[in-house]
This record gives sequence, C-alpha cells and structure tokens, in this order.
Amino acid sequence: MFKFILEHPWFFTAEYFSQFEHNQFVDEFFVKLQLSALYRSKRMPKAFHDSLRDKKLRRLLRTAAHLPFWAGKIKDNTLIPQSPLSRLRSLPVMTKDDLRSVPIEDRTNKEISAKFGILNYTSGSTGEPVSFFTDKRLHTHIWAILLRIAGTEKIPRQSVIHLWPSPNPNFSFQNSFYAKAMEELRDRRKEIYTLISRPKSIVLGFPSLLRFLSDIAEEDNIMLRPQLIIVAGEALTPEMRLFLQDRFHCKIVNHYGCREISVMAGECESGRFHENSEDVIIEVISENGFPLKEEEIGKLVVTGLNSHIAPFIRYQLGDQGFFYSDACPCGNPFPSFSFGGRTHDVTPIFLPDGSHILPYRLTGIFNRRFEKIRQYQIDHYAPFAFLIRIVRVGGYTKKDEQELLDDFKKTTCNSHVSLQYVTSLHSKGPKVLPYIKSF
Ligand SMILES: [Zn+2]
Repeated sequence: MFKFILEHPWFFTAEYFSQFEHNQFVDEFFVKLQLSALYRSKRMPKAFHDSLRDKKLRRLLRTAAHLPFWAGKIKDNTLIPQSPLSRLRSLPVMTKDDLRSVPIEDRTNKEISAKFGILNYTSGSTGEPVSFFTDKRLHTHIWAILLRIAGTEKIPRQSVIHLWPSPNPNFSFQNSFYAKAMEELRDRRKEIYTLISRPKSIVLGFPSLLRFLSDIAEEDNIMLRPQLIIVAGEALTPEMRLFLQDRFHCKIVNHYGCREISVMAGECESGRFHENSEDVIIEVISENGFPLKEEEIGKLVVTGLNSHIAPFIRYQLGDQGFFYSDACPCGNPFPSFSFGGRTHDVTPIFLPDGSHILPYRLTGIFNRRFEKIRQYQIDHYAPFAFLIRIVRVGGYTKKDEQELLDDFKKTTCNSHVSLQYVTSLHSKGPKVLPYIKSF
C-alpha cells in the first residue's frame, strides 16, 4: 500500500478534487496517509528507491512522449535495452527558453490539466518567467513532503501562513500574504499577528520577509511564537538562521524548491540538502552537458517524477551545486548536495526619500508582465539610477512601456530610469540576473 502511494501520490486525491468540496479534515487525512508512506520510505534500502525511481521515470518518459514538445526528443527506442536512467541522461537539457519557445499546449497533458490543472508561472527569479500547469492533486503530497523535511509528525489544523513576495496560484498557497511591498505587510500586520498567535501555527516564507515581520512585531511590542518556520526562495545564511531563531524562538527549516516542480530537497542539521528521491532526480552536469562526478561543481538539472501534467525533464534551474560522496552525518539516507554560486540578492536598495526596498520589489514589476516581456535585467548603475534592458515579445506596445515606466518610477521614488530594448541578454553571462548592482 505505501509503495502504491509513493508511486501514485496523486491517486487518492484525484477523486476528491474532482467530486467533493475541499475540506480541511479530509485534507489532513490525506496528508497523514502520504506522510506515513514517506517516513516508511525513508527507512527503506537504496535498492527500493532505485526501483521506485526507475518505475516512475519510465512512466514519466512514456507520458511525455505523447506531448508534441517532447515527442521529437524522447524517441521510441524500446527496442534498445536501456535503463530508464541512462535513457534520461541521453535527453537534452531543457531551459526556460526552450519551454517558452513552444505554446503551453504542446507541453501540457490536456486530460489532466482540464480536470486538475492550475495555470502557474515561474516567479522569474532568473529573469525568464515561463507559464505551465500545476497539478492540484499533488497538494497534500507536497505538504507531507514539507512535514518530513521538518521532521515532524504533527499536522496542525491551523492554516499555514505564507509570506511570499508574489502571488502563487498553486492550490497549496492559501492564507497567503503576498507581500509585494513591505508596506503591504505592515498594513496587514494585525491579521498576520492573529494567525501566527494561534497554537501550533506554521509560517512559510522568504527569510527577508520574516526578518521584516519580526522587526515590525518588535516595534509593536508583539512576541510571535510560531511552532515552526519553513523558509525557501532565498539563500538562508547562518547569520539569518540564528537571527530568525532568536526572534521567533522556534525551529527554522530550510528547503529547496521551485514553482515548476515544487519541493525538491530539504536542508538537514548538518547543513546539507537531501534530495526527495521519491519525487525528483537531481543531476549535476558540466557546461557542455556531461554528467559530473560527486564533489564536482556544475549546473543542477532536475526531473520532476510527478510532473505528468507538464513534464519537467532535465530542467535547468540556474543553480550550481555538487553532490557529496560520503554519507551525511545526520543519517538521512537520501543523496546530499550543496549549492555553489547560488545568487539571490537580498541587499536593500536605497531610495531618494531615505527609505529602502528589496530587489524583488523591482523584479515583481516585470514578472507581472511576463506575457509581454521575454527577459529583462535591471542594472542599478548609480545611486537612484537604473538602466533596464528588455527583450520584448509580440504585443508589447507604447502604452505598456509607459505603464511599466510609471510603475518603476513610483516604486523607486522617482529615481532616474532609462529603457533599452535588446534582442538577447545572454551575452551578459550564462545566468542572466534580473537585478545587478554595478556601482
Ligand atoms: Zn544530512
């Protein structure tokens, strides 16, 4: 039974989502079911995980081969005896640009998306947003995965409080405070305090937003004591971890995820990230796409084993890292890795009126227009002065330009802004950063 749940994490919830009203208690029951399967899986030997991975991978490749985008890439070579893993490694690496070059229908499983799809898009942290469908049947599974990373058995009845800088249409994101602006978080702070003050509350958010929240709570003389804090989205420095622990007096759990594939790994007490091997395959490859050995730093590419609605296969996220060659001292049997060269800028940007904002306030302006902007880069070349480079897509008009400029000027307190339209940003390096400070 537990093997079946791991193989088909969407199975039980499918009926539920298609027929019944969403209900918190039923939800908890499914999370419990998933969680017990996941804990049991963690105790299983490597051979078990290898066979689970092969089975899931074989099925994913089969499903993907029916979609126009993948059909040409995943050749039907069933006659050649090959393990699913070596078949995977023979496939090209996918970038956001590759996915965006075809209509979303060409890389979407229509049957599943009609029933369970939620239109989603990347947060654009690499400056290249792309749209895709999220499978809402995986909602309880994703939550269970987070609980396993947190090392908890308890399933709080209270809602989780999300502090996120951009709206996420994912079904799992309810009770969210999309703090696009710090002022927004400040305006709604009473509501947030009340939610966090309920027993056993869990806060899921960006470290920078949690830090800001703790600052305003301190000004208000409010002590916030959630049961647990789960962070993601930005690098969690040891200093920031200690700071948050000190302010909130609770365990801080860090995980690695993305909107396309959701939760992919969790950080353990030894400071390593452990792959969720039941759900993803993370590979480290060289610049030329060759697989690298353990301890060698390279590009991380990810395959989402549950991503049947919109397959993400050998998908390049823009992060760099390496796998450890030894077993992790924490005892977690899943492969462990660390990042190298992950770039998440959390340096404040100072504005003419003496206030400051974080870079995502600026990137948000472009991410909200992802249908019309293929890529962008904000070059903060002097204090209060910005040069924006944009790669447009069809349909971008003068009116869009004016609205964008108005938005940018408003956010930056009338700083100097100039626009430059370019055809490519790749000359700026393999990973185009959406925000750079060059003074
Ligand atoms: Zn570990």
